[in-house]
Amino acid sequence: MNGILLALLAAASLALGVGCSGPAPSVAADTIYVGGDIVTVDDGQPVVEALAVKDGRILAVGPRKDLERAHRGPATTVVDLGGKALLPGFIDPHSHYFSSLTVANQVNVFAPPAGPARNIPTIVTELRKFRDERKIPKGVLIQAYGYDPNAMPNGAGLTRDDLDLDFPDNPVIVGHVSMHGAVLNSAAMKQFGISAATETPEGGVILRKPGSNEPAGLVMEMAYLPIFVSLPRPDAKQEVEWSRAGQMLYAASGITTAHEGATHALELALMQRAAAGGADIIDVVAYPFFTDFDAVLAKNPVGTWGKYVNHLKLGGAKITLDGSPQGRTAWFTTPYLTGGPGGEKDWRGEPVVPEEVVKAFVKKVYDLGLPLNVHANGDAAIDELLRAHEFAAAGDLSRQRHVTVIHSQFVRPDQLDKYVAYRMTPSFFTLHTYYFADTHLRNRGREQAFFESPMRAAIDKGLHPTNHTDFVVAPLDQMFVLWSAVNRISRDGVQIGPEQRVTPLEALKAITVYAAEQYGEESSKGSLAPGKLADLVILDRNPLKVDPMAIRDVKVVETIKEGRTVYRAK
Ligand SMILES: [Zn+2]
Repeated sequence: MNGILLALLAAASLALGVGCSGPAPSVAADTIYVGGDIVTVDDGQPVVEALAVKDGRILAVGPRKDLERAHRGPATTVVDLGGKALLPGFIDPHSHYFSSLTVANQVNVFAPPAGPARNIPTIVTELRKFRDERKIPKGVLIQAYGYDPNAMPNGAGLTRDDLDLDFPDNPVIVGHVSMHGAVLNSAAMKQFGISAATETPEGGVILRKPGSNEPAGLVMEMAYLPIFVSLPRPDAKQEVEWSRAGQMLYAASGITTAHEGATHALELALMQRAAAGGADIIDVVAYPFFTDFDAVLAKNPVGTWGKYVNHLKLGGAKITLDGSPQGRTAWFTTPYLTGGPGGEKDWRGEPVVPEEVVKAFVKKVYDLGLPLNVHANGDAAIDELLRAHEFAAAGDLSRQRHVTVIHSQFVRPDQLDKYVAYRMTPSFFTLHTYYFADTHLRNRGREQAFFESPMRAAIDKGLHPTNHTDFVVAPLDQMFVLWSAVNRISRDGVQIGPEQRVTPLEALKAITVYAAEQYGEESSKGSLAPGKLADLVILDRNPLKVDPMAIRDVKVVETIKEGRTVYRAK
């Protein structure tokens, strides 16, 4: 088709008032998606027939006939979805991206649900699988993470002998879940100089075989520290490779924007080097931890925050106010029904940072005009945040500052009203209604357990909550996140607070458009509308149409970042 004819056709379609939304209809798209449900997460037109992409952005959405007439040029690829569903790429509101570098390159030996390690034989099997699949040569160190002796049946811990049988030639280091120790096999002990002759340093632990001085495998604390500091660090090439592998874990679950929820200065420097070196598959938003905030600020002036460089952005600051409810370290105004983790009576949990420090930090972040993410699980921790806000924002309590209360699991109804007044966003963790419901029922009683991560109440009050995995705490499974918000069913099949269930569309908004708002990126992400980035995910079925209980079975088929396919299921 020649140019004059194209121009004539374009003029004709203009005159006819072609009914698709978007810029100049004479623009030819790079790609037009048709043939399946296109779920826009845009209340104006929730499902459309076709979506056109040009230069990494959404050019138009609307009826297929109109889009093809207006935007199908000779070089346009028309993708037939074949009945599959196209949605906005998922936006991760809270996880720990940096862990993905380890996850992608070491063996996961977390106990269920975070990993497969039910017992010692499973740990050995996972290590063997990793060695064989990656064809790791003799002599090369193999590392695992997440080993928890307390989760092993009969309290029998992993030993060097368990590992030596299958790994005579590779040093193996199985990291303890606390990160303060590891189990070494004989080859690793040789490499790191641990033997019967090694004295146990003060403040250290070297477990010995019964009746001998021979090390049994587990090395902890001060005895482990010298090993830890001499573990090989990734070289420049590995930094990029590991980061790309980590980002692919996110892409495989349909995520096009990932979250790094407590970034230390050295980790950020690595992320920046890796991004510049080509680890830029998806967007990553980092929240430097308050302990490292000044160090990060010294190297990254405040004017550089909030802007993507090589798909990496400094999103704001992070501070942690309490622990976890399942570990009984979340801070409440009322006692745990089960006492404290050390058998304490009348235990309510504790703050992790003195309140003066919290207040000063919140004020510093507000004064710099940066967004703030605050970890708060228990209602006493949330009260503390509200007090810190009232101190730091005195005189202008309701300005939009992009304050996100990460977890907010045991928020009270009156605190949700304060969130509305102070324009704070709760980022909930509804997966707990599946993974930890029994623990919460025991620790906090039915009323509080049923009101954990109360998405229904939050939405009804006008909030736009998000919902997260806290990866590596839970796997990066966005359909499971959706399923848990819609169904709230525990591992034992008990419904946990059915009145807090939300619709599938509301649950989807919590990982798309509301998450975009959390990042202040709603003008470019979160829904399928002309002008926004073509960050897309193709699912094998429309999760808004399947039986709510089947949402968890919906699969990611393809993930597209700015118009380019970055993941395709095998
Ligand atoms: Zn977290």
